[in-house]
Amino acid sequence: MKSIDGMRIIGIIGYPLGHSLSPLMHNRAFEHLGLHYQYTLFPVKEEELGHAIRGIRALNIVGCNVTIPYKEQVIPFLDYLAPGAKTLGAVNTIVNKDGELWGYNTDGIGFYRSLTEELGTDVQGKKALLIGAGGAARAVAHALLEAGLQELVIANRNLDNGKRLANELEKRGYQVQVVELKEEILRKFLMQMDFLINSSSVGMYPQIEAGLPIKQEWLRPPLILCDLIYNPVKTKLLQMGEAQGCQILNGVGMLVYQGAAAFELWTGQEAPVEIMKKSVLEFLAEES
Ligand code: NAP
Repeated sequence: MKSIDGMRIIGIIGYPLGHSLSPLMHNRAFEHLGLHYQYTLFPVKEEELGHAIRGIRALNIVGCNVTIPYKEQVIPFLDYLAPGAKTLGAVNTIVNKDGELWGYNTDGIGFYRSLTEELGTDVQGKKALLIGAGGAARAVAHALLEAGLQELVIANRNLDNGKRLANELEKRGYQVQVVELKEEILRKFLMQMDFLINSSSVGMYPQIEAGLPIKQEWLRPPLILCDLIYNPVKTKLLQMGEAQGCQILNGVGMLVYQGAAAFELWTGQEAPVEIMKKSVLEFLAEES
């Protein structure tokens, strides 16, 4: 059995935690590099959130990830926010720097690194149709616009939620259009887009047959299709795009790269992204 003497602790705080892939991905990476760290689950009830965050400092824990439903609620308990987390008002990574708790958000950079490194493309001067307006959509929208995306159209089931995200982006000086998630509207916009990005939960396990109001024949190269969902690794949307000859990108890369960015903040070492990705893909293959 591995000795736990001197083991440094990292974890993920959320509730309920369900099937988080982060412990597997990070522990595999620590083992690969021979680092004496252990990543564990911290399912924390809402009334205990403040105690749990202060406990990071008290117990000298290296840091943690934060997931649903606490990405916004943890902020009052932190000492400093990195600029990205401040802009989003959401934290997915906490780093304990000599007793000072810093909040970061690595979701947007995770998606962007996945896009640029896995597809070898960038978004400078390009146009994207983003489906969804939840937490993941916010991180992705900010990251893409910061990276020079020229035009962003947000399509969301609940138009008010879409408008709220658009208002937030417009306050930062970006021009964004919001449309309803309807067939005839999506058809019209898809003809003009470079990227279609699904950041809604439509098509996610176990509802893998749920579909967006998009017909396969509307998906034509050079349109690039991205789906933030990683389970299944190839959603119905990505299958349709692939059958049409479009380049496709699933959510595994975003999961891995947001984790890699957190790993680097905690350890100061370059994350072994290929090892992390392999652990996630092996797990998902066993699950299906
Ligand atoms: P969220 O904040 O709950 O937002 C969910 C979004 O999906 C909202 O825009 C919601 O629209 C939309 N939606 C839900 N059910 C729908 C339906 N039946 N028809 C149309 N739209 C529907 O969730 P989130 O955290 O943004 O996550 C969204 C997806 O991204 C999930 O599949 C999650 O697994 C994935 N994700 C992946 C990563 C990664 O690392 N790859 C990271 C984060 C999230 P309304 O506003 O109308 O409710």
